[in-house]
Amino acid sequence: MSHSDEHQDQIETRAIHAGQTPDPNNGAVMPPVYLSSTFEQDAPAVPRQGYEYSRTTNPTRTALEENVASLEGGAWGLCFGSGLAATNALLASFVPGDHIVAGNDLYGGTHRIFRQVYERYGIEFTFVDARETEEIAAALRPETKCVYLETPSNPLLRLTDLSAAIALAKDAGKMVVVDNTFATPYLQNPLALGADVVLHSMTKYLAGHSDVVAGCLIGNDPELRERYAFNQNSCGGGLDPFSSFLVMRGTKTLAVRMERHCSNARAVAEFLEGHAAVETVHYPGLESHPQSELCARQMRDAGGMVSVELKGGLEAGAELSKRSRLFILAESLGGVESLIEVPPIMTHASIPAEERRASGMADGLVRLSVGIENVDDLIADLDQALSR
Ligand SMILES: *Cc1c(COP(=O)(O)O)cnc(C)c1O
Repeated sequence: MSHSDEHQDQIETRAIHAGQTPDPNNGAVMPPVYLSSTFEQDAPAVPRQGYEYSRTTNPTRTALEENVASLEGGAWGLCFGSGLAATNALLASFVPGDHIVAGNDLYGGTHRIFRQVYERYGIEFTFVDARETEEIAAALRPETKCVYLETPSNPLLRLTDLSAAIALAKDAGKMVVVDNTFATPYLQNPLALGADVVLHSMTKYLAGHSDVVAGCLIGNDPELRERYAFNQNSCGGGLDPFSSFLVMRGTKTLAVRMERHCSNARAVAEFLEGHAAVETVHYPGLESHPQSELCARQMRDAGGMVSVELKGGLEAGAELSKRSRLFILAESLGGVESLIEVPPIMTHASIPAEERRASGMADGLVRLSVGIENVDDLIADLDQALSR
């Protein structure tokens, strides 16, 4: 028995208890890491508790799957070896001729698997400015099978109005997938708004310590679960037991980490907005953000990611990223430590300069993943790095 009553407990409680059952044999409070590839059967073809072979199911992975499903308010969760392995399992369920409408400000790797892997198999994609609900509506075709959304987007922290976008897609009979990596289930719950599937790179905030690569799909429809579990077993993208354990360690503290990520990011954004070297700050929690009202309506708080355009362009961005001491120059995000990167030449370098500028990404853009260090230390670090 799980100690969490899913219908009553709040997310802070579910994060710690959902899927976590003390071991009936010895009372171990933490789920053991079951490093066994195979399981003894009670009779031929009678696996005990359904466990047979760890590619298919593993008890440590099951514990994490129940945990993350509960965080998003879903009936099921399936965990994969990376966020992109989860995306891959999702995309593999489509057939040639199917069409997918997606936001044009997506995670770079998602854009790559769409255009460079699945387009070759005859899946078609249309990219739209997902801030504009009408653009999503206008892109739908009879053969559209899925609307794929990511909000807040990366690196410009643009928002999609999830209620409006999901309602229009559902009216048209289309499936909706939301990549909830940036917001996390602590800040927004797309399934509650009618989305069919939520996707996470658990590498980021869910695991939260920059020490594991993992992903998941979460939903309510048992048919969808069947489809993705079949893929997980047939293609072999399931998350290994030790990584499952590490992610579970992370999800337990999701709520407290997110509170600190959000309050630190807000203070950092406010500091940057008042700095003479800064052209624009992109943070949906700032009043100056064009979608701050939507942010207040849709998200519990504005998240831990901030991007900033410096007046000195690419050179100034590169300088800042080299001079900062606590903000470590590295890709990725969502860990307890603060990171800084320069999207035009790092995470988003594969996008041609013209296309990048046209989408609103200035050459001097710098992206910060604000960690949970002391906020005064973080601001002092940016201050010294900007003013030398
Ligand atoms: C990192 C990331 C992914 C891909 O996840 P991996 O775990 O790196 O495979 C997908 N979406 C978003 C928003 C991400 O930040």
